Amino acid sequence: MGRSYNFSAGPAMLPTAVIERAQQEMLEWNSAGMSVMEMSHRGKDYMSIAAAAESNLREVMAIPDNYKILFLQGGASSQFAMVPLNLLRGKESADYLNTGMWSKKAVSEAKRYCSVNLAADTSESGFASVPTQESLQLDSNAAYVHFTPNETIGGVEFDYLPETGGVPLVADMSSTILSRPMDVSKYGVIYAGAQKNIGPAGLTIVIVREDLVGGAADNTPAMFNYATHVGADSMYNTPPTYSWYMAGLVFEWIKEQGGLEAIGEINRRKAEKLYAAIDNSDFYANPVAKNGRSWMNIPFTLADAELDGAFLEGAAARGLVTLKGHRSVGGMRASIYNAMPEEGVDSLISYMQEFEKEQG
Ligand SMILES: *Cc1c(COP(=O)(O)O)cnc(C)c1O
Repeated sequence: MGRSYNFSAGPAMLPTAVIERAQQEMLEWNSAGMSVMEMSHRGKDYMSIAAAAESNLREVMAIPDNYKILFLQGGASSQFAMVPLNLLRGKESADYLNTGMWSKKAVSEAKRYCSVNLAADTSESGFASVPTQESLQLDSNAAYVHFTPNETIGGVEFDYLPETGGVPLVADMSSTILSRPMDVSKYGVIYAGAQKNIGPAGLTIVIVREDLVGGAADNTPAMFNYATHVGADSMYNTPPTYSWYMAGLVFEWIKEQGGLEAIGEINRRKAEKLYAAIDNSDFYANPVAKNGRSWMNIPFTLADAELDGAFLEGAAARGLVTLKGHRSVGGMRASIYNAMPEEGVDSLISYMQEFEKEQG
């Protein structure tokens, strides 16, 4: 028994060092006489944990001072509603780039609140590429532009930042946040469910530019209003205390790895070698246009789908688990977030090559 290389799209692997640290601190955190799970979120011990996590995230992502960081519940899926409720500010329409299953969900939720202009829609081509900047049909009167930088299911990732001409850009960054350095100042709102690249499920991080807070529609539930959470430092009600603490440990771990520059370099290498293994074989294939390939979620199919079961079985026997593709795509999907060690990717590649030799 040992820890597998877990290629799950989410909840995903956490760094072993982080889990070991949590294990050490499990029964009693720092002479507090209790575990983090048992602390009042208003006590000074927990407040110090929360504040450290926030300041470490601000440092790691170089988040400018005019952005608030919220630690919420409800998942990225709640943001599909919170974004229009807070950002429409009297306007009637918003632009959405429809590039995959998650964009599609964001669109259908937004339609409850406003008219949605699909400024791009790659559904016809099976969500296998990113739309070019030139092809975007943006409306300069839109309240905001929403996009999904990385589509977790299709494995499609933007290789550029859409230029919106001053309209606030909103990004569902659930599966690519913290994967490399990025310029937060280009965004109005960034949100992400934690369970991919941040920490355990139950926590959702929202990074919102100050001037976009405070204009929520009158009938917005207090819990869905960014201003509520900004005003209460994310402690309006009980936050997901343990997940917040765990996320804090992950941010410290990122700093120990050398920050997002170093992490990004490793991620680029991991993705490049896995795509090379797929492209250099006639047995494996990835359907995504080369410039739109995700660093984090890499779907691939076998030449003969009848062999999928045998592939998965052999992989599991080597400790390579959760490789089955999303039901809508089929085949395999390797999610290789920050916590997936490079050795895990190497091990997958050698298994793929052996399997091809035996079965191909
Ligand atoms: C996983 C995921 C979601 C859904 O997140 P929840 O936290 O489960 O609501 C939304 N968008 C993207 C891009 C995702 O990867």
